[in-house]
Amino acid sequence: MKTFDYWKDKAAGLSFRTQAFVNGKFVDALSGKTFANVNPATAQIFNNVAECDKEDVDIAVKAARNAFEDGRWSNMHPAERGRHLMRLADLILEHKEELALLESLDMGKPVSDAMSIDIPGSARCIHWYGEAADKLMDEIAPTDPGALAMVTREALGVIGVVVPWNFPLLMACWKIGPALAAGNSIVLKPAEQSPLSMLRLAELASEAGIPDGVLNVIPGFGETAGQALGLHMDVDMIAFTGSTQVGKFFMQYSGQSNLKRVSLECGGKSPHIIMRDCPDLDKAAEAAASAIFFNQGEVCTAGSRLLVDRAVKDEFMDKLMKAGLQHTVGDPLDPATTMGALVEEHHMNRVLGFVDKANEEGASLKLGGSRSAGREGFFVDPTIFDDVTPDMTIAREEIFGPVLSVLTFDSEDEAVRIANDTIYGLAAAVWSRDISQAHRMARAVRAGTVWVNCWDPTGDMTIPFGGFKQSGFGRDKSLHALEKYTDLKTTWVQL
Ligand code: NAD
Repeated sequence: MKTFDYWKDKAAGLSFRTQAFVNGKFVDALSGKTFANVNPATAQIFNNVAECDKEDVDIAVKAARNAFEDGRWSNMHPAERGRHLMRLADLILEHKEELALLESLDMGKPVSDAMSIDIPGSARCIHWYGEAADKLMDEIAPTDPGALAMVTREALGVIGVVVPWNFPLLMACWKIGPALAAGNSIVLKPAEQSPLSMLRLAELASEAGIPDGVLNVIPGFGETAGQALGLHMDVDMIAFTGSTQVGKFFMQYSGQSNLKRVSLECGGKSPHIIMRDCPDLDKAAEAAASAIFFNQGEVCTAGSRLLVDRAVKDEFMDKLMKAGLQHTVGDPLDPATTMGALVEEHHMNRVLGFVDKANEEGASLKLGGSRSAGREGFFVDPTIFDDVTPDMTIAREEIFGPVLSVLTFDSEDEAVRIANDTIYGLAAAVWSRDISQAHRMARAVRAGTVWVNCWDPTGDMTIPFGGFKQSGFGRDKSLHALEKYTDLKTTWVQL
């Protein structure tokens, strides 16, 4: 394993791409403006990034449109597109340490997590869609024998991709992979907190032979560059990951502009249910702690509502406290660190505001509950509240930080009722030895993914990922993701 000093030296020698990437070149924002990029672990500015706005979006969309219309990518043999994507996946792995450091410095996650999860996961995703590019068959409809009706899938055109900061490169790759495999062009707006890995990715894509104009990256703010992309009359689709509130804006932008398609991967408040016949309480307690403290709790599927059967509650809480103590904050560049800094000061204060609210509303603080002492950056200690009731603010709102709410139930029906008492429906888990009960509950809980006797065990690309209810619609990952970046065409030939 690489040492803390190794990562500090490597970070000190890193160079950053801070301009926009449009039509195969790094360029300043037209206004010449930049914004300060802060390292959340030190609270210091470490570079300034091009601040793109509407005019830059226009130029990037034009570049993407030209690339799409002249067929340099959209009409390339699918197997050839696939080869370029697989080359890009290889380049991501060749630059794994650099990309892992960019993620860590930009948004505060442990570099060890970026090395084991974000970067290999991004490469795997791009490779997977590269492999898939020439494996998809179209259909001949069973019409009258006097006709030949072909149902083919066509790329949509220009896709606007807007992503959050919690897994910057990985969330982008979940969209870039299928959108490019299908032959579209992309204008990508990273979150303002975490643009660096995507700017480097664009450069690697160019090195992998993906033609100019096919993948453009425009750093900038949501209210300006993001909105301009959402309202653009020549963008065919927005693939969005982020909060439910901003997801709703994109639906409005679509209605106010060209009725572009929208897919939304939004927030969550996922229930993690421990039944009295849980097959392994130790394992479940470790999973429950990781489900909320991994990535500092900045995970859309964080298991933020832990529902525990009263019959095993006391025993389980002892185990949960022990498991919680295994998660401690530290310098994200220290390989021993399991929890880094929250992404920015404003977000840290928001998370601490939820802690205050929980104390006011009568939840019992069992662990943490404050900013980590003795650190310059935006660190919050792992926090557990017991005696949380379904009406409390921390049981209802997405906190997106390391704050766990523990709720108690007495029956299967009550567990399902509490689990579904939310506007969200992204993920859930049930721990039970009883296969019938587990299936019954998995069916009854409204969520895009339900895990049984585990929590989010792999980054398997073969399964679709996305939400029910206000967690959004449309799916990332799996072959289903290709559906949203294509549309069906019928060609009827009278014989
Ligand atoms: P956010 O919604 O604030 O921002 C997401 C993106 O939208 C950013 O690029 C931002 O610049 C842009 N944006 C913000 N305001 C905008 C506006 N008015 N118009 C256009 N664009 C705008 O979310 P965040 O704080 O970056 O990320 C956290 C959220 O993301 C959480 O709610 C989390 O659950 C969600 N998330 C969901 C998934 C999923 O797959 N379902 C995955 C990761 C994160």
